[in-house]
Order: sequence, then structure tokens, then C-alpha cells
Amino acid sequence: MSVRVRFAPSPTGPLHIGGLRTALYNYLLAKQKGGAFILRIEDTDQNRYVEGAEEYIQNALAWAGIPPDESPINPGSFGPYRQSERLSIYSEYVGQLLKEEKAYYAFDSAEDLEKERQKASEHKGHFSYDCHTRMSMRNSLTLDKETVAKLIAEGVPYVVRFKMDADRIITINDEVRQSITVNTNTLDDKVLFKSDGMPTYHLANVVDDHLMEITDVIRGEEWLPSLPLHFLLYEALGWEPPRFAHLPLILKPNGKGKLSKRDGEAGGFPVYPLAWNGISGFKEDGYLPTPLLNFLALLGWSNKTDEEVLDLQEMIDAFSMDGIQKAGARFDVEKLRWFNQQHLQKMDDDALLEQCLVRSPQLKDVLHDRLKKALLLVKERLVFPADLEREHGYFFSAPEIYDEKAVAKQWKEETAELLEDFMALAQSSSFEASALEDCLKEYVSAKEIGIGKVMAPLRIALVGSLKGPSVYSLMTFLGKEEVAKRIKRAITQLKP
Ligand code: GLU
Repeated sequence: MSVRVRFAPSPTGPLHIGGLRTALYNYLLAKQKGGAFILRIEDTDQNRYVEGAEEYIQNALAWAGIPPDESPINPGSFGPYRQSERLSIYSEYVGQLLKEEKAYYAFDSAEDLEKERQKASEHKGHFSYDCHTRMSMRNSLTLDKETVAKLIAEGVPYVVRFKMDADRIITINDEVRQSITVNTNTLDDKVLFKSDGMPTYHLANVVDDHLMEITDVIRGEEWLPSLPLHFLLYEALGWEPPRFAHLPLILKPNGKGKLSKRDGEAGGFPVYPLAWNGISGFKEDGYLPTPLLNFLALLGWSNKTDEEVLDLQEMIDAFSMDGIQKAGARFDVEKLRWFNQQHLQKMDDDALLEQCLVRSPQLKDVLHDRLKKALLLVKERLVFPADLEREHGYFFSAPEIYDEKAVAKQWKEETAELLEDFMALAQSSSFEASALEDCLKEYVSAKEIGIGKVMAPLRIALVGSLKGPSVYSLMTFLGKEEVAKRIKRAITQLKP
């Protein structure tokens, strides 16, 4: 059977970085095996429904470059792909479970349940609707048939609960954690369906995974506690369960606890792929999709080779379920920036230039040739496409302010004279980088001074600080006239 995997978010808000990783692992497995990657929207909890969330999820997957093969907007033959459009399907299966006495009606009101909780807490216990308590509650196991029929006919609200087996030890295989053993006495009778016709997550999820012929369920670790119930639901419905893999948590940058939106705010990094309600996402902050996916792929999965920088096809080829780790993976934004930088290096110059222009439209009037030259001088230093203008704006306009610390350290009594002398010499050279280098070397050796005495203030005059590419290449790029202008300006503005 060919691999069919699904990403099944609830549209309760934007996609979080963890959700994107789950989608990615599903996508990688599907593509590697020539299978299908499905997007199913789990929208049965109407109270938590957030307008625009589904569209956001679709857009985020499209931006990331991992679009689903089947989805609500691109349906295959297993639709509908929104659970809210599949309600009659769930009623049918809940009917089957009731008929076979694997589930039962429960009429306990919210107050009844609250009373039980209170009673239990008075004895320092915890109320659980399960094999120990169900026979003292108001349900179709304790009421006679006629009463049950009457209550339903009268429209008394009910839920349908799963009748969890007592005294069974079950062992389930998880691709990441291997075998997980549970005693069913520790599990409660979960609600599967409500009288308003809505299934709960558990029932809808299992029914859909079966009907959509999902072969591998790859999802976050937070769903691990639901695994025994899902496994038993497959059994109760007479179905073969899929393979399961529960992905490790993504941890805060300090490694303590689960990464949250607030960690992003505090650490100055995004946690959503795209902007949401005015909060900018990875896209808006200048991260490109492939490095983000590369970073996420290795956040919880390890490649057997040492190669870290991978494009999407390489991730597809290298991915394996047995490389997924159990332990939580620490979110390290520095590492993400490194991936972004590494992928920028691998980009074609013109494609990268296009990205720079998208980020810095103010550069669109600069001649293409000059832009490209500037880009090539600093390409390896760019972390984001916006850095060409943001960090290296001196290519395109003279510095207006000078780094005070650098000036205090490097601008001396004799600096103005040295720069003027050197410039006079350089003017008569070809102004090619190598000629300028020779010229400066000869000048400082004749003067018997260290090269830094000229080079550092020269850089300050041209750049405004001590950063930037080779000062000779920069001079060539700027040209005689502009270099002379910048030196003059620095001399009039800066005092030792
Ligand atoms: N709807 C669940 C969620 O929001 C799906 C969990 C699963 O993949 O089974 O994450």
C-alpha cells in the first residue's frame, strides 16, 4: 500500500513552528515514498474556531514549499477534507459502536459531574469517568432501555462515551518511542460524540485516518496520551491501525520547557511562518523557506551523514523515521540564522539579488551591475536579503554617522594628513584593488608606520565603522571621486 500521511491541524489560530515541523516530516516521508501528503482540517470544535486560520495554514504550507497533494481546496478522492463537512460519517460509526456495546450514552449533567469531582477532591482524589465509576453514573449501562429511549426522545442532552475495557495490558508500537505499554484501568471513558451531532477529536480523527487510508500518523508528542484510546478505537471498529510516530517537543532556547509565543517575543524571533494579527512571521523577518525547513528538519531528526545544509530534495532523500529522536529539541535562533546565511550563499546571484530588491525596494534605482558587484563583495556575510542595504548601505550612500568607539580609537592627530597623502598617491594609480593595495603598502613602508594607521581611518571614512569588505575592493567599487569626497567629509567632521 502506498504511503498516505496527513497533517491535521485544528483551525484555532496560526500555524506554530511546531505545526510546520509536523507538516514537514509528513511531507518528507510522503515524497520519499512516492506517497500522498494530505491536509485535513479538524474543525469540529466550533468554540475554538478562528476565522482565517484555515486560509493561513494553506498559505503557510504554500509559502514553505510543501503544499498538500489533497486538501479542502485541492480535493482528492477521499473528501471532504474538512471534518465539519463529514458529520454524517461520524454518526454512522458512533451508531456502530453503540450497537456493539462498545460505547454508551451518558446523561450526567455538568452539575452531576461537578459534584462527583468535589466529592473526590474532598477525599484528596480525582474523579475519573471510567470502569470504576461508570456503574454509579446516569448512563445507558445503568438505566433501563425504555428510560434511555425516553431521555433521547425528549431531547435531554447526552454524550456518547467509549466503554474502555477493564484489566487489559496493551502494548502499542510508536516509531519514535518503540513499545508503549498501558494498563487500561488507568484510562477513562472518553467522550466520542455529543447530542448536538458533533464528534470529539478522538472519534473524528480515527474515523478519518481510516477512511482516508492513512498509513502513518506523524504528530506532536502532545498527542501521545491519546494514543492508547486511538489504538483501542481502531480495534473496536474492527480496523487495522496505522503506524504511529510522536515527534519530540520543541524546547525553549534555554532548553527548559516547551517553546511558546512569548519566547519569540522575548528573544526577538518569530514563531509563525507568516505574519498573523500584526505579529510578523519568519517570512516577514527575512527567513527564506528552504533554510527554515532545513532548520526544522534537523530539530528532532538527525541526518546520518554530517551534511547539515540540505535543500528540500536532499531532505526528502535523507529523511528516515529512525533518525527521529525522543528527547526534546532546543530551539536555537542563532542556528536558524546560520542556516539562512548558508542557503543564501548557495543561491544563484541573480535570484539572491531579486530577494534583496524585494526587501529593499529603495535600491531599485541603483544600476543592476553595481548592485551585483556590491552583492558579490559581501554575499558571504549576508544573513538576510535585507542585509545588503541594512548592513552595507555604504555601498550606495556615504555614511552620515561614524561609529564613535571606532573613531575614538583610530582617529589620531596625524590621521587627516596621512589620508590626504595616501589619497594623493592613490589618485594617480589605476584604482584597481591590487594597485591600491600596493600603493598603500608602499606608502606605509616609506613612512615607517603600521598599515592600520591608514587602513582603519580609511575604512571609517568610507563605511562609517570598522566593518565591510576589503577596503581596496570597496575603493574600486566607489571610484576615485566618491572616495575622495568621503575622505574629505570625514576629515572635516571627525576630530581626534
Ligand atoms: N487536530 C489535531 C491538532 O490540532 C490533530 C492531531 C493529530 O495529528 O492527530 O493537532
